[in-house]
Amino acid sequence: MARYTDAVCRLCRREGQKLYLKGDRCLTPKCAFERRGYAPGAHAKKAQFKRNQSDYSLQLREKQKVKRIYGVMERQFRRYFSYALRTKGLTGATLLIVLESRLDNVVYRLGLAQSRAQARQIVRHGHIVVNGRKTNVPSYLVKPHDVISVRPESRSREYFRTVVGEFMGERPTPPWLSRDSEALTGRVLSRPTRSDIDIPINEQLVVEFYSR
Ligand code: SF4
Repeated sequence: MARYTDAVCRLCRREGQKLYLKGDRCLTPKCAFERRGYAPGAHAKKAQFKRNQSDYSLQLREKQKVKRIYGVMERQFRRYFSYALRTKGLTGATLLIVLESRLDNVVYRLGLAQSRAQARQIVRHGHIVVNGRKTNVPSYLVKPHDVISVRPESRSREYFRTVVGEFMGERPTPPWLSRDSEALTGRVLSRPTRSDIDIPINEQLVVEFYSR
């Protein structure tokens, strides 16, 4: 399974905006984008003032941004796009809804992890059960009425006993999910809609990128 393993702060600097890939650190002055808010690379600082962005470049950057926020690699992202294309409705919105329904994203949204990358690791390590069955596939797509919870054997771990409570308290639950913080459990109430996804993305540019 391919996965991006380089420094993630470079990705925010490349996209020219904070993508919040590192949880709490993103909100502190240690954030690399706060300190060096220009693209990485030896000459990027100078080049950024000269650059005249083409339509293609804008579309490419938007597509890369979505992929990076959700931590999905190109091949899988294309698969999601082809699925969105075949599905009734607005392709861009469907694409975002599919990404939002991934199990790692849901674990993050429920406040069980600080970032999507951490949520992915929690899922991969087998700490999550869906409808009572251990599920260690981050790309699993949740459905309405699914119940997502921490595996009983994992609840006694220091992380789930203490640390998680702090994130859960801070992060509001989106309207399509409900959460029981005491029981470390969440339920999918409905499919997410485009308006439930609070990420600043122009999905139309992604559609244009793949429709060239
Ligand atoms: Fe991006 Fe977070 Fe790194 Fe800041 S700390 S550059 S928001 S990943």
